[in-house]
Amino acid sequence: MSDSERQDSTQNGQRVREVNEVYPLVALKNVVVFPHNSHALVIGREKMVRAIEEAMLQPDRSLIVVMQRSTEISDPQFQDIFSIGTLVEVLSIQRQQDGTIQALVRGIRRVTINAFLDDEPFLRAGASTLPETQYKGPQADALVRYATNLFEHYAQLNRRFSAEDINSIVVLKTLPRLSDTLGAHVINDIQQQQELLETPDPMERINKICVILGNEIEILELETTIRSRVRSQVDRSQKEFYLREQLRAIQEELGIETSSEVDELRAKVKEKALPVDVAVKLRKEIDRLERTPTQSAEVTVLRSYIDWVLALPWDERTEDRFDLIETRRILEAEHYGLEGIKERIIEFLAVRQLRQQLLKRRDGQGAKSESQGQILCLIGPPGVGKTSLGLSIAHALGRKFARISLGGVHDEAEIRGHRRTYVGALPGRIIQSMKTVGVRNPVFLLDEIDKLSSEYRGDPAAALLEVLDPHQNNSFTDHYLEVPFDLSEVFFICTGNVKYQIPRALADRMDIIELPGYILDEKVNIGSRHLLPKVLSEHGLTPEQLKIPQPVMQHIVTDYTREAGVRNLERQLAAISRKAARRVLEKPNTHLRLTTHSLEQYLGVPRYSNAPPVQRSKIGAAMGLAVTENGGMLLSVEVVTMPGKGELLITGQLGDVMHESARAALSYIRTRAEELQLDPNFQENTDLHIHLPENALPKDGPSAGITIATAIISALTRRPVRSNLAITGEITLLGSVLAVGGLKEKVLAAHQANIIHLIIPAENKTELAEIPAKIRQSLKFTLVDDMDQVVDAALLEAPTEEEQEAYLHAPLLHLDEHLPTRREPYESQRDSNNRRSNIVANEQWEQDDIDPSAFMIPLAENHAHDAPQAQGKQNDTQK
Ligand code: ADP
Repeated sequence: MSDSERQDSTQNGQRVREVNEVYPLVALKNVVVFPHNSHALVIGREKMVRAIEEAMLQPDRSLIVVMQRSTEISDPQFQDIFSIGTLVEVLSIQRQQDGTIQALVRGIRRVTINAFLDDEPFLRAGASTLPETQYKGPQADALVRYATNLFEHYAQLNRRFSAEDINSIVVLKTLPRLSDTLGAHVINDIQQQQELLETPDPMERINKICVILGNEIEILELETTIRSRVRSQVDRSQKEFYLREQLRAIQEELGIETSSEVDELRAKVKEKALPVDVAVKLRKEIDRLERTPTQSAEVTVLRSYIDWVLALPWDERTEDRFDLIETRRILEAEHYGLEGIKERIIEFLAVRQLRQQLLKRRDGQGAKSESQGQILCLIGPPGVGKTSLGLSIAHALGRKFARISLGGVHDEAEIRGHRRTYVGALPGRIIQSMKTVGVRNPVFLLDEIDKLSSEYRGDPAAALLEVLDPHQNNSFTDHYLEVPFDLSEVFFICTGNVKYQIPRALADRMDIIELPGYILDEKVNIGSRHLLPKVLSEHGLTPEQLKIPQPVMQHIVTDYTREAGVRNLERQLAAISRKAARRVLEKPNTHLRLTTHSLEQYLGVPRYSNAPPVQRSKIGAAMGLAVTENGGMLLSVEVVTMPGKGELLITGQLGDVMHESARAALSYIRTRAEELQLDPNFQENTDLHIHLPENALPKDGPSAGITIATAIISALTRRPVRSNLAITGEITLLGSVLAVGGLKEKVLAAHQANIIHLIIPAENKTELAEIPAKIRQSLKFTLVDDMDQVVDAALLEAPTEEEQEAYLHAPLLHLDEHLPTRREPYESQRDSNNRRSNIVANEQWEQDDIDPSAFMIPLAENHAHDAPQAQGKQNDTQK
């Protein structure tokens, strides 16, 4: 029935339609009474109390209860109440002292209120029963079971119901009873309850209830997971807190001072003498650390940053000492030879010291500006003692020593560090080493400065400049640290192999000292005096257990090493020591004394020939000199002529500069054809093939110009090149000879290869003074200004046709070729020309009557031993 119909039916108040019976009526505020269920009602309003009293007088004690639409109305009329209510039986009443009544009622059935009679002293209503569909069968049973399960699940999550409550509901097996009971006790929302009351179909009712319960369960489950998550977090931090408190209590009990990690860090900051800006920055970071939850990943980042900054030597330094005599003593004791170099180092240190004193006097901050000045840079092949000189300097100054290698560094970040925003960021290698060394004034060796490479990832050389430049390095900023670090007290020493590969800007700030390499007797002495004792102690041997006499050491140097430095020698000594160590262990009390004969048992067959390599005069073949990273080396040039059309073929591993030198040499020869007694048109019917068989690529460019020219002229004129001669010099188109680089290394290499005569540019004359006197005196130098002089000095007169044959067919011996190794006592080694062999060099120098001031040798001098026959004889005698 619609509201309008119902209003119609009550227009005249008394008109009653479909009224079956009339009952007293109680309007309730916020209570819905369901059939089949008991409810305790508290009734206070006079009219309602009277209605109950009236009902109690009736035999069946029936009355109608219905909910008011609004709780605010105290004297409700027909339109103020819902149209569907419940017929109830009053089970008992109890009068309270305040005049209210507590009534226990039990719902009987749903009724539709058709008529409303506002009789004094109570309300009455005419009502008809709302018919209820009865369901039976499996569908109804299934619904009952489903609803019961749902309820059980709900009760489990909700925990509002006692076990009896649950049992009393679960036993209900009919749809009407179950739905009304659930409506009465499980549904909380009063509007939903009224709606259920107004739904007469029990199946529809139970469906609605199931929907409501389903939603409730979902919400409850969500609540449960949230609650358990919160609880577990709370539990963990509670546990941590609890454990920490316990620990603190235990520590207090034991008298151990307790302070948190952050407090400790703060204390450290206070203790350390940090620059103000660094301390401020650190405090900020510690505050951040304190605010960051311990589980956060940032804690580690902050912690390691703080640790890094704290670990750096901001104020720690060693006491400097500089005593000229003591420094000299240390350098002498730790290094053999290197006279000029030790002098240079002492001078360098002396100047440094004086500058420092001057600055101290001038502005009272000597220590701060001490490194204002040049940086020491030691250049030379591997194993010549650059690193160990650095160590000795540290030793002499009483400073600590740090070292990094810059070989292959191509990323600026390796020098300057990564910003902290990167995962796993670290400071650069400079700062890392400063941390390791632990003082702010170490001697810092930057190895392989010539191997820096620059790439798209920034320029490491520029970063290094900032490290080395005395004007900038007092505030070197590492990307990771973010605060400047003062490097001005560090004594930087750079080392490298090749001078011209050092980045220009760096080279400008350096005081470069070159170490060209060692000659034989220096190596022998270094081996015996320095390397052997060191290697022995490294292998746990005493000097008595293994003795290597000097002659044997000499054999090791000549037969097993070929190098400018002594690194390989050290390795060979280590190999011997390993074997010796084994023997000593196998047979205690062994005292080994190496002889030249037993050497092979230790080191195997000799790797290099100990006999002088013999070079023979040859047409079209000349020996040049080059400088590589490993020091000087010989460079052979071969030229052949063939009938042809003037083609020039150049082969071998050689760079562009070498090609240019070859072309320049050829052009010069063409312009000078007449003077050289060549057919001016020789090119028209001759092809030239120039070949440089040496497989190492020389790095010093044009210094083989005059060598190539000599070989070409020799090939064209059929004049043989003198034997045992090496030629180096740059050639111009007009035939002038220009200076070359690395003369010292070249001379050393020539000497080691038993070359006796060198043709070098006159421009290089001054450098001859730097070559050790012993070597200088054992060689003949021809200083040349132009190509004519070279031709005169290098080429023999053209031989007769017969002789030519011999020149052409005599095989050319290359320097690396092994000659039969002789195992004679070293003292007796002399070749057939009574020339020193490599090994007997020592005694011979004094006897040689080469005047070092007369570098020019007579140009027309004819060497009898240059003839191939003579050479052949020598070979014979050797066999
Ligand atoms: P570099 O740094 O030039 O490659 P090192 O300094 O590492 O060479 O030297 C290699 C080894 O040779 C070291 O054990 C060093 O002590 C030793 N050494 C080199 N030159 C000398 C020398 N003049 N006197 C004594 N030992 C030397």
